[in-house]
Amino acid sequence: MISREVLQGACLAAIVLCAAFDAERLFSRQAAPVKREGYTDTPFLPGDRWRVHDAARPYPRVIAPGTESSSAAPGKAPSDAIVLFGGKDLSAWRGDEKGKPVDPRWKVEGDWVEIVPRSGSLITKESFGDCQLHVEWATPAVVKGDSQNRGNSGVLLMGRYEVQVLDSSGNPTYADGQAAAMYGQYPPLVNASRGPGEWQTYDLVFEAPRFDGDRLVKPAYLTLFHNGVLMHNHQAYLGQTAHKTLPRYTAHPAEAPIVLQDHGTPVRYRNIWLRKIGTYEAQ
Ligand code: MG
Repeated sequence: MISREVLQGACLAAIVLCAAFDAERLFSRQAAPVKREGYTDTPFLPGDRWRVHDAARPYPRVIAPGTESSSAAPGKAPSDAIVLFGGKDLSAWRGDEKGKPVDPRWKVEGDWVEIVPRSGSLITKESFGDCQLHVEWATPAVVKGDSQNRGNSGVLLMGRYEVQVLDSSGNPTYADGQAAAMYGQYPPLVNASRGPGEWQTYDLVFEAPRFDGDRLVKPAYLTLFHNGVLMHNHQAYLGQTAHKTLPRYTAHPAEAPIVLQDHGTPVRYRNIWLRKIGTYEAQ
């Protein structure tokens, strides 16, 4: 007869062995090298250290892509985005470049914030250079004013290069001042504006200009989609945004804040996020 103690001991030993086996299996599973698909005998890409289909080339970082917005609710930013305004507060913003707080008249309501005319522009606390930017905006549902006095605001990249925000639905104004214009320089390729009060989206890629001392080496470039439609395809800014004068470049730091312009008319913003643009290697 096997005693109860011996039986209990045997069971305990079996459990410990099983656990150890499982842990080893788990460990070996984690430690096992990932099978790399690809080739090691293909030609090198011109000027690159990677071969065509290179098996050793690092895989892109995995991120969650976020969700689309609807007219009722903003979508979610990609998981690696810097959320500049997600609907709760204006903690990423200030009232001027010296650190003045945002004017308390800027109203956050639910998931949006509204410019109260002549309360000052909103300026990001952080500075940015090359970036992907998503911005949603809506001009007032009740139309007041015309031309440049109807829902005028703007997204000023580096505080200098404006993408015009305007109610351009049935609102004649000069071409290079319409919504989605590179203000004072290039009109949008088409007018894809939604009506007053409707949420509209800007998705843009901005390349900061490069300077060598005071000399411009490379201009700023903009690619812009308005409501998903291409407005500018890697178009160079002629200089800093100007009104009634020729744009010019003046050397400035490699990174600078983004500004949401108070142009004296109420405009709402929501769901503003940004991703810094890296190189293939840095990513
Ligand atoms: Mg403007």
